[in-house]
Amino acid sequence: MDKYAVLREYFGYTDFRPGQEALIDGILSGRDVLGVMPTGGGKSLCYQVPALVLDGVTLVVSPLISLMKDQVTALQKAGVSAAYINSSLSPEELRLAYQRMGQGQYKIVYIAPERLEGDGFISLARRLNIALLAVDEAHCISQWGQDFRPSYLRIPDFVERLSRRPPVAAFTATATSRVREDICQRLTLEEPVQVVTGFDRPNLYFDVLRPKSKLKTLCGLVEERRGKSGIVYCSTRSAVDKVYAALRERGIPATRYHAGLTQEERKKNQEDFIYDRRPVCVATNAFGMGIDKSNVSFVIHYNMPMSLDAYYQEVGRAGRDGEPADCILLYSPGDIQTAKYLIRNGRDNDALSEEELEQAIRQDMVRLEDMTGYCKTGGCLRGYILRYFGQDAPENCGNCGVCCGESETTDATRQAQMVLSCVWRIKDKLGYNVGALLLGRVLLGSQDKRVLELGLNELSTYGLMKSYGKSQIRDIIDQLEGQDYLYADPNHGGISLTSRAGAVLYHGEKVYLRFQTASPAPEKAAPGTKSTAAPVESALLDRLKALRLELARQEDIPAYIVFSNATLTDMAARSPRTMDEFLSVSGVGQIKALRYGKQFLAAINDYLAEKE
Ligand code: ADP
Ligand code: ZN
Repeated sequence: MDKYAVLREYFGYTDFRPGQEALIDGILSGRDVLGVMPTGGGKSLCYQVPALVLDGVTLVVSPLISLMKDQVTALQKAGVSAAYINSSLSPEELRLAYQRMGQGQYKIVYIAPERLEGDGFISLARRLNIALLAVDEAHCISQWGQDFRPSYLRIPDFVERLSRRPPVAAFTATATSRVREDICQRLTLEEPVQVVTGFDRPNLYFDVLRPKSKLKTLCGLVEERRGKSGIVYCSTRSAVDKVYAALRERGIPATRYHAGLTQEERKKNQEDFIYDRRPVCVATNAFGMGIDKSNVSFVIHYNMPMSLDAYYQEVGRAGRDGEPADCILLYSPGDIQTAKYLIRNGRDNDALSEEELEQAIRQDMVRLEDMTGYCKTGGCLRGYILRYFGQDAPENCGNCGVCCGESETTDATRQAQMVLSCVWRIKDKLGYNVGALLLGRVLLGSQDKRVLELGLNELSTYGLMKSYGKSQIRDIIDQLEGQDYLYADPNHGGISLTSRAGAVLYHGEKVYLRFQTASPAPEKAAPGTKSTAAPVESALLDRLKALRLELARQEDIPAYIVFSNATLTDMAARSPRTMDEFLSVSGVGQIKALRYGKQFLAAINDYLAEKE
């Protein structure tokens, strides 16, 4: 079968997405490849299609054993013989898997990296016809990346010990060139075909909010999205527990996930989420790598993550099926301190020398500054992310909190001058710069002990902004920093003027800042939540979803493995009446048509008959 036939018959798609074909062609011609695509961009297909075109078995190295099962189930439902090998198998299951592998029964086998080493596996692998070795989440091999896993370093040894070297295909969503180079070098890729696709995910709506009470705002946001599936990321376990309790108290079917829970509980909670028994998951970043639940329709960050790489990977879990999805970050200045603490103390540093550790921490601090810049920018949020990943972007994307006019850009030259001159006066008096907190207090005219002790109440700028709220002042300081009028020293937080500030103070350069036009009202849905389904089909879509759930329960598989939301939406729009028409629905392959076609066609038929 050629690649187009495979795409159509097994996966039910007619076209490749950008980048997929070049990578597939590379593999099919025997080359190594490196594919860099955003999460949800369609990396799996890049190795699954060649696996089905080529003779022999494809091995897929994947870091998270808990998710292999899902990937394998999804393949099996599409009619592909697949299996996984990891520590969750009993000795008997493992023996059986090896035996079937030896007989050439599988086309695709997922394997945990630490399993590659076992002598049993190597001697088996040496006898097999290995068509391709695919390395998923390949950035795990780089210590500069987010999720360094020492076990990934064993992959090249394994390849070397094979009797014939298969093409090696590496995939990641991490775009920094440093990590990319590291992957090529450490995996010893031989002149790989490299494809870096565009990073834009147009169906994702971005926003940054700075609420007074995060917890209240968060609960409001989740409540607005009742019935939808979503992830709430927090930076610490205790925050997960707090948010989880608050959501449960409000009757929201939520579950939670962090490293402090027992393994059984983590497994159970993850399944509750994947099977939509509890469609909202509150989690630390330990949750989600490799999660390909396609109907996640929002990802809310309760805390700012440590880098845009991490942020984009985490929000990438939303809207994988192409449906509109919301990515909302709740920012407060305190998040920066938490992130710095985690950078200094959170690293599993066994594999790094002291010098390497120092360097890694420095790198992380630079990444953190870029992340903070995102929260403070007055410009298009999508544009900020894309430029970070080295891609051009228009000024206005039309689908983020800034571009959709949730906020308004206004001439704030006067306010800026007040803040900047206060910074200047403080430095003049004390001989050093103070942090944003103290600066804000001086502008507010606060009776705070430190303000009085340092005599800052004697400055002419003391109380200059007393008609403003505390958080408003902080917002203005942050934005001035975001636009390079102020510089916050990353070590001690002291705020100083930049050369740009001089132009404002002495030459009257105008400053434009962005302010929220209305505070994010919980009852107002973000623009990204608009449903794309035409109203005529929505009743049919509901029925198709109900049928999907029923079938999924019968088979004890997650609903999205039966069909994705995007497939059901397309099905409702086309309302197929025959099996041929049914096969033309995007995401319906041969095997799934055989398995589910009759029931879905009957449901559509009933619906149309009732309407007539
Ligand atoms: P990644 O591994 O890059 O995060 P996936 O491989 O999980 O992304 O793909 C994300 C979604 O996109 C899946 O639901 C998949 O079925 C769908 N998809 C992949 N390739 C195509 C394609 N060529 N046409 C339509 N949908 C696709
Ligand atoms: Zn925008």
